[in-house]
Amino acid sequence: MKDSFLDKLCCPVDKQEPKSEVFKRHENGDILEGLLTCPSCRRYYPIVYGVPIMTPDEYREKALEEPILKKWGLALENSEEKVFLLEQ
Ligand SMILES: [Zn+2]
Repeated sequence: MKDSFLDKLCCPVDKQEPKSEVFKRHENGDILEGLLTCPSCRRYYPIVYGVPIMTPDEYREKALEEPILKKWGLALENSEEKVFLLEQ
């Protein structure tokens, strides 16, 4: 995914513009892996294989996202069951 695509993304919950962090790029400069974080509700959205996973909470699975976060040195916050926040 191109950096310019980041400007088109918004949080599915509150439509705020997320902050982005890139962990891995393709040799052509495209973003392969990264993290989007909503400044308003604090939900995070991973970018995996160049695709931003911006799904509403009810369609997300913590068990599927945990290994990805762990690889990036991050962890899920262990609070409300269906809200996807990172450990601070
Ligand atoms: Zn949000």
